[in-house]
Amino acid sequence: MEHIRCLIIGSGPAGYTAAIYAGRANLSPVLYEGIQPGGQLTTTTEVENFPGYPDGITGTELMDDLKKQAERFGADIRSAIVTKADLSARPYKIAFDDETEVEADTLIIATGASAKYLGLEDEKKYAGMGVSACATCDGFFYRKKVVAVVGGGDTACEEATYLAGLAAKVYLIVRKPFLRASRIMQERVLGNPKIEVLFEHNTEGLFGENGVEGIHLVQRKGEADERHYDLPIDGFFLAIGHKPNSDLFKPWVQTDEVGYIRTENDTPRTGIPGVFAAGDVADPHYRQAITAAGSGCKAAIEAERYLTEHQL
Ligand code: NDP
Repeated sequence: MEHIRCLIIGSGPAGYTAAIYAGRANLSPVLYEGIQPGGQLTTTTEVENFPGYPDGITGTELMDDLKKQAERFGADIRSAIVTKADLSARPYKIAFDDETEVEADTLIIATGASAKYLGLEDEKKYAGMGVSACATCDGFFYRKKVVAVVGGGDTACEEATYLAGLAAKVYLIVRKPFLRASRIMQERVLGNPKIEVLFEHNTEGLFGENGVEGIHLVQRKGEADERHYDLPIDGFFLAIGHKPNSDLFKPWVQTDEVGYIRTENDTPRTGIPGVFAAGDVADPHYRQAITAAGSGCKAAIEAERYLTEHQL
């Protein structure tokens, strides 16, 4: 079986940054790209808050650059998806969907998180054309425009409040007759004159010629009391939660109730020696490209120290 000193799983900012650092430390890192090569950033359009790009950069270009930078330092980047992990003893064994299996002295889990979508066909149709799952990433493009946010939790309230600072008007579409968010976030939303909360509303679809121009809504106050109507909007934001991609590692590492991998203090250590978690898979709070990159850097430094200490 192939033996790898530093195995990185995931190709978002955390994975690539870990590969850059591990490559420069001569750890001969091998990175598996996973289901979504380039990670969540490839689903956004322009990235304007990643330091170092004063004019902005597209998500795809940024990820291409990070990949090239990792390759420049010798990272071996492969495209396969993890199917099985055995972290019971070192070297750790990982199997992939191309029928290969490798063993690794250190493992950096950087598998990210996936935003949840409603499952509407129109979400795919208008992806990158008015549909977004990240207000911090895309809100700027909706200055003085009308947007809708779906969800009633803390994320939805936070995103609605953030967007209200930019947009002319924000509709918050909540399926229940109340918000699930913390009291302080509820008060912020309900007290904001730019935000209109549409309780007991569900989204049925979106419409528009070359991008989102409106939303098909249904208001339900009981089985017999249904009102279908359309609302003109320019942007549609999902904020119904994220799912960390940690399922395969759950038998081995600790996760919180949502599935985010728990790490020790503010390090990327998982509790299993030589196994580290970086980026959104271990970050329920910030979920930004730059914080993911920072944690990828930390994970690679930890891996290098671990290999040196254990003379591997
Ligand atoms: P939550 O699971 O708390 O909320 C999800 C929201 O989306 C709920 O209102 C839910 O509705 C709604 N929803 C889910 N599925 C659908 C659907 N198919 N159609 C319509 N609505 C749907 O997720 P969050 O991301 O908001 O929060 C996750 C965790 O992170 C929470 O513990 C939260 O407190 C925390 N957090 C804290 C923040 C802070 O403290 N600053 C900021 C952001 C998150 P329903 O209520 O009907 O189930």
